[in-house]
Amino acid sequence: MKLIRPGILDITSYNAKPIPCRVKLDIMESPYDLPQGIKSKIKDACERIRFNLYPDPEAIALKKALADYTGVSSEMILVGNGSDELILYLLLCFGGDGRRAIFPEPTFSMYSTLARITSTESCSVPLRKGFELDTSEIITEANKKPSVIFIAYPNNPTGDCFQRKKVLRIIRETGALVVIDEAYYEFSRKSFVKDLSCYKNLVILRTFSKGFGLAGLRCGYLVANHEVISWLNKVRLPYNLNSLSQEIAGILLAEKRWMKKITGEIIKQRDWLYNELLKIKGIKPYPSKTNFIYFETDNPDNVYVRLLSDGILIKQIASGLRVTIGKSEENQEFLDRLNEIL
Ligand code: PMP
Repeated sequence: MKLIRPGILDITSYNAKPIPCRVKLDIMESPYDLPQGIKSKIKDACERIRFNLYPDPEAIALKKALADYTGVSSEMILVGNGSDELILYLLLCFGGDGRRAIFPEPTFSMYSTLARITSTESCSVPLRKGFELDTSEIITEANKKPSVIFIAYPNNPTGDCFQRKKVLRIIRETGALVVIDEAYYEFSRKSFVKDLSCYKNLVILRTFSKGFGLAGLRCGYLVANHEVISWLNKVRLPYNLNSLSQEIAGILLAEKRWMKKITGEIIKQRDWLYNELLKIKGIKPYPSKTNFIYFETDNPDNVYVRLLSDGILIKQIASGLRVTIGKSEENQEFLDRLNEIL
């Protein structure tokens, strides 16, 4: 008798083992640590928090701040330990046996990983030429079984937003729950939040890991209509967001100037790097509305290994490579080395 549940045994564990490097441009972390002013506010918060008590299970103060930030009411928000946790809740609640998770390919890998963990059938629909959604195919697949559709907007790893009218067609023409993952919203500034009032099957997912530069915080949130939130609350673990993360996320929302400063700098660097990559023969970079650039080259294995042998870590993904935008000197070093390799 096997102890482990069927379907789990052949899942590859998420390999988060750090790869030694000097310049880390692999997983869309912000290159900027928090400034002293914000760190001292966090220290003050540490004095206030009563660590012996459980956190606010409803994260009332944080949800209120998020309601102001997103322009919806607090009852439409759910917070989680990173948006990964919220993807798990979405699949626990709307996926499972006999149901499907549908997503374009390539996209963020956690949709398929968490689908397997929750016994949800994965259905990946390849992106069309130019990395655009295959709208008709997604709709056809979604109409076969109860489904959750995940659309990263902008998409990871390809970096750009899909056409808005195509996404709207999917929301309108399927009975599926459509999750628009706006993890990179602070860079793209494009959102479907305003469409929530029209579509009951729409869910927006966001995170503090990217534009706010707080990957270490593990704080994500979701915006949806009240009914969807009430269903998700049935599977949510009690106290799923710790007291410190609730406080720090609130501080960052009150200090939005910092987020605007770092996203502005990263966008400047991204656009500079994109233009420089365009000049290199043998590299095809794709436009990006995020803090990374996806590019193709003839021998991605060789480029990846040679960059790493020089201490520069990027990510090999799909049939190309993805570089996270770092500080200007890091981006310059990456570019110089890439020029040498090619
Ligand atoms: N969604 C997308 C599209 C992502 O690229 C990532 C992280 N790479 C996440 C969600 C996960 O975010 P979090 O750190 O909040 O779990």
